[in-house]
Amino acid sequence: MTGQLSTYGDDDDARCVFCGALAAGDCARCQRSVCGDCCVLTSGGIRTWAICLDCQERGGQSLRAEWMTVAGWVVIPILLLLAAAVAYVTWMH
Ligand SMILES: [Zn+2]
Ligand SMILES: [Zn+2]
Repeated sequence: MTGQLSTYGDDDDARCVFCGALAAGDCARCQRSVCGDCCVLTSGGIRTWAICLDCQERGGQSLRAEWMTVAGWVVIPILLLLAAAVAYVTWMH
């Protein structure tokens, strides 16, 4: 059919990470599921974001942790690929 928001289908039984209630959505920073009571809404330009209480307390500090996580997800696979390539070349010789 026409493009529907298929990702929402997986959120049916998503639970709030804080109180276990049915989640209303994902935190914009840490992507964890939170219910309406455990998040705060902050307007970030054209749309409203939900930020979990954890991220709101940490404030700007979470931004750095988020970048470290992103960097880890990018760097680690590259290192693994390099290690595999080096091991392969070494083995072939
Ligand atoms: Zn909650
Ligand atoms: Zn969060």
